[in-house]
Amino acid sequence: MKHFLWQIVSGCLAVKKNLKARGIQGDTLCTRCGDQEESINHVFFECPPAVQVWALSRIPSNPIIFPSNSLFANMDHLFWRVPPVIDDHHFAWILWYIWKARNNKAFSNMDIDPRNTLQLAESESCLWKEAQSSLNQTVEQSRSTPIQSLPAIPGRWCFSDGSWKEKDIFLGQGWYNTLEGFDGLMGARNTRASLSPYIQSLRRSSGPWNVCGIYVSIQLLLQRIVRSW
Ligand SMILES: [Zn+2]
Repeated sequence: MKHFLWQIVSGCLAVKKNLKARGIQGDTLCTRCGDQEESINHVFFECPPAVQVWALSRIPSNPIIFPSNSLFANMDHLFWRVPPVIDDHHFAWILWYIWKARNNKAFSNMDIDPRNTLQLAESESCLWKEAQSSLNQTVEQSRSTPIQSLPAIPGRWCFSDGSWKEKDIFLGQGWYNTLEGFDGLMGARNTRASLSPYIQSLRRSSGPWNVCGIYVSIQLLLQRIVRSW
């Protein structure tokens, strides 16, 4: 939608006048009403079916101010002159469905009633607004959820973890310890899968496709190291 609005304001939307200027063969007559020149302003603000859509909409119309023969004055009116209580970006959907009605005529020779154009724009605008509010609620909820910290565990603990697939030659390992004076001491590595006792114990504690977690006491490890000396 932003890109579409940018195309209107920057004057590069593919209306017949612009296509002719880009060297594409064909007439410049308005697809819907047969006017001499299908410009961007004509499609959205001067073509009779489009003028009818604006007249039916809640956006205030005035023959002098809006819709006028100036594209910039018209877009300025829609963007900044209509109070949000009257129209909260609803106009963007009206523009979009006027453009779709024009394309229906150009490519399928279908005449879309201005009342249908407005109805489609209004329902789409409401759905979009609802989607934005539910999206904002989800963001707010996720922001208000407190971050839970792990409960304190007395003693000196090393939490280790491993992940592997049966046929992969590499596996992942990670560890974190609660050793006093070494808060946040952690590490991870990617290593070749081997049949070490540690890997065997990891494999026994869970299936081959799962990430498993076991707690190993550093004190027990130290005892083993001391024994091995
Ligand atoms: Zn026209």
